[in-house]
Order: sequence, then C-alpha cells, then structure tokens
Amino acid sequence: MSLSFDPAAIDCPVGHHIGGRLVAAEPELAVRRPSDGVAQAGCPVADVAVVDRAVAAANAALKASRWGEVRPRERVRALHAFADLIEREATMLGRLESVVSTRPIAQSIAGDVAVTAEQIRFFAEFADKEGGDLVPTGSDRLGMIDSEPYGVVGAITPWNFPVSMAGWKLGPALAAGNAVLLKPSEMTPFSALMLAELSVRAGIPAGLVNVVLGDGPTTGNAITGHPGIAKVSFTGSTVAGAAIMANVARTGIKPMTLELGGKSPQIVFADADLDLAADCIARGILANAGQVCVAGSRVIAAAGIADALLDRLLARFAAIAPGATWDEGTNFSPIISQRQLGRITGIVEAAVDAGADIVTGGRPLDRDGSFYAPTILTAVTPQSPAVTEEIFGPVLTLQAFAEEEEALALADHPTYGLCAGLYTRDFSRAMRTSRRLQAGTVWINRYGRSTDHILPTGGYKGSGIGKDLGREAYRANRRTKSVLIDL
Ligand code: NAD
Repeated sequence: MSLSFDPAAIDCPVGHHIGGRLVAAEPELAVRRPSDGVAQAGCPVADVAVVDRAVAAANAALKASRWGEVRPRERVRALHAFADLIEREATMLGRLESVVSTRPIAQSIAGDVAVTAEQIRFFAEFADKEGGDLVPTGSDRLGMIDSEPYGVVGAITPWNFPVSMAGWKLGPALAAGNAVLLKPSEMTPFSALMLAELSVRAGIPAGLVNVVLGDGPTTGNAITGHPGIAKVSFTGSTVAGAAIMANVARTGIKPMTLELGGKSPQIVFADADLDLAADCIARGILANAGQVCVAGSRVIAAAGIADALLDRLLARFAAIAPGATWDEGTNFSPIISQRQLGRITGIVEAAVDAGADIVTGGRPLDRDGSFYAPTILTAVTPQSPAVTEEIFGPVLTLQAFAEEEEALALADHPTYGLCAGLYTRDFSRAMRTSRRLQAGTVWINRYGRSTDHILPTGGYKGSGIGKDLGREAYRANRRTKSVLIDL
C-alpha cells in the first residue's frame, strides 16, 4: 500500500487535551504546510487560565490514580500498552505529523513514530528497575537515598521532530511517576494531541498527559512560570532556553533540562575512509534539510583530501528527491516556513559578502513551498556567519586544516557544543581528539543518533543543561531524598 496521502483529507484536531479529552478552543494562529504554504488548520493559544486548568487536571489525575505511588510494574505495563497503540496507529499519527511538518511521510512512519514507541518502551523499563541506594554510614546508622517523582512536569518541544521530541519527554516523565503538561510547537501541534488521546486509550489514567497548544511568549511562559509545574523539560533554541531560565528565575526556582541548539563540526583526517565519511556527512546535513539540532554543518577536512571529499559530497547532494511531505517518494524536506527560508538565504548571502564561495546551491529551490538547495560553501573564515550561526538548513561549510591542533581549534565553537564527528582509521587519534572536543556527543566513523537509547544526549556550553535519553533522562524526572536512621 502506498504511504502517500491527500493533505486536504486530513482532519486536524484543534483544541487542548486536558483531563483526558479534547477541549475545543478558538484557533488564533494559522498552521501552514511547509510543502506548499497552504494553511491546513488553526492553533489556539493557551493563556494562564488554560494552563492553570491543565495543571489542576494533572494534579487531580496524579492524586486519583496514585500513578507515582502504584507498584511500578503497573506503570511499565501501561506504558507498553501506550507504545503498542502508537505503533498500531502509526499511519494516522504519521499523517498528522507529516501534513504540517517537514517530515516526509515514509520517514515519519518508519522512523519517527516507530522510534517514539521504542523510546517509550525503553523508559518504561526503568520504572521497576532503577531504584535508590543504601550508602555507607557508621554502623549505628542506616543511610539511604530514596527517590520520588516531581509531580507535574512541564515539557516544551520544537517543530523539527514533533512526535519523537514529545516521546523524549513523555517516556521518562511518565515512567518516573509524574504527570505531564506538554506544549508542542505552534507550527506542528497536531501529532502531540493525538499522542495524548492514545495515552488515554491505552489505559494511562486520564489527566496524566495534558497537551496545551500555543506560542512561546504566552503559553510557554505560562507553563515555565507556573507554581504548579515542578520541573521544566525543554528542547528548542538556545535563545528560547535562555528566556526560559530567566522566566523560571523570575517566578520561582525549579529544576530544568535544556536541550538547545548546535553548530556541530565533523573532522575528516587524511587517513579516513572518504566514501564512508561522505555518506555520513551528506546524511548529517541533508536529513530533514538540515533542520536538525545535531546537523553536522561544519566540515573540517585535511587539506590533502579536501577536494576528493568535496567531489564525493557533490555526487551525494545531487541525489536528493525534494517533494511534498505527503508523497512517499520524498526524501528531501521543505524548510518549515517562509520566514526560516528567508533567514537561511540571508545568512548565506552575508557569508558570500564576507568572502565565501558557493560550490553548489546557495539559493532556494525553484518550486512551490519553501525548499532550499543543498549548499556547500568554501573559503569561509571562523568569523563567517555561515560558520558561527546555527543556520538550520541544508548548508555545509568546508574548511581545510594542516595539523591536528588546527583542526581542533577550528572545531571549537564559542557558543555551541552539542555534537561532533570524527573520521579516521587511527584509533589513538580518534580517542585523543574525541577527548579534546567540547561536545556532549562525539560520533566516530558515523554520524547521527542510533537506536541505542541508553546513550544520553545533551550539550556542552550554550547547547544545553542536562540530558535527554539514557538513564540520565529517567533520573532527571525523579528527585532524591536522603534518609538517615539512627539505629
Ligand atoms: P524555538 O526555541 O523557537 O521553539 C521551541 C519551543 O519553545 C516551541 O514550542 C516554542 O513555542 C517554545 N518557546 C519559544 N520561546 C519560548 C519561551 N520564551 N518560553 C517558553 N517556550 C518558548 O525552537 P524551534 O525553532 O522550534 O526549534 C529549533 C531549535 O531547536 C534549534 O535551535 C535546534 O537546534 C533546537 N533543537 C535542539 C535539540 C536537542 O536535542 N538539543 C533537538 C531538536 C531541536
């Protein structure tokens, strides 16, 4: 059966999901399809009163269901049922995801939705396996570290992988015994609403998963500043992360994890397998048209092999199949909005004004919707805006180096430290350079996350605080209590 679908036939839910049901709300923002610019549906904007209502529903559900106190195996079972239902409804969930996002339908269904179900299973399994600790004290005492859920976790997610980002937040927060109030991006709100509905159908107590729609300044601020939100979990830009820190500081102290932007380098040493490196680099910048936090957008190649690498990259860049996200054959995504397309165009023009050469691309694609041509820029200095800015588009810079030390200096970004890639056959060099890279993740002879969800993800420097995925994400959703008993 073909995965292609007619976007006009997709009925998007409009409202907030509060207390286990969809609560109708007036749409205030248009949600446009990036593939053709057509307005698909509207997005309401929850204000403080709506957020209040969702927090109250979450607290009432926690109390009534005793979700954080029940035998943890019950949470495991409910979350497995949730994951199973996500898989069973993959077609509809994938369509709601793809219709207004940049995710091609084939990738949504086989990739994003499938991974979301797996991640929920992965986190479910922590619920009855990850516990506290008995710690060494004097023999006349018993010291232990107990742990408990926070209560209501406020989660805010970006538009670039809507369903899987929601999964990153829901999985660990629910497994750890919390309720969640999730705000997806106002540009891609519909798949999160369906996830909330599926959670109820799967038997997760109504009110534990609430989804409110809206923008950052109104709804996002209302969530992060709400006294009933015990913990904030955010994925998005570094600028918004800083605004959230400021708002949390203004309105009361609470813990937060922040997964923020990146401008990740990929170093190709002279002894690298160039075909492998070109495959990984092309995938690392063409996936989702570069609209990926971990996009490996800065290639730093040994001078002797830079031309040979460039030839290989050009061949791979020519093989893209741009198209509407609802066509099964599409493998190259549109840019999320005309505004973002204008931003990419502006940064590339500024880089050219500052001396960069365009090897390929350097302009929007001549077709409906908002598509930007895969682009490679050379002759860039470390100060070039193409090297310093997170472009969030299919734009690669190529810089050459003579010595390892120079490669490491070029790789270091003043603001970001999310990921880095290394290509070499020399194990010692791989480990030596990996240890010197200022990045929360280093991929060696590969690029991009795997399905090894046990590996945490998160940034150094302005790329974030704390981790998603891995044991760390589960632990971040519980707080510890030290208990000391005199015997
Ligand atoms: P964004 O920061 O503009 O928006 C992200 C979310 O935050 C949206 O839901 C938005 O409505 C909300 N928001 C915006 N301002 C807010 C505020 N002041 N208070 C509360 N909420 C606010 O980011 P985006 O454009 O949706 O996504 C792209 C960015 O996300 C890129 O910078 C990318 O690198 C980053 N990202 C990071 C990761 C990671 O794992 N580190 C993963 C995906 C995306």
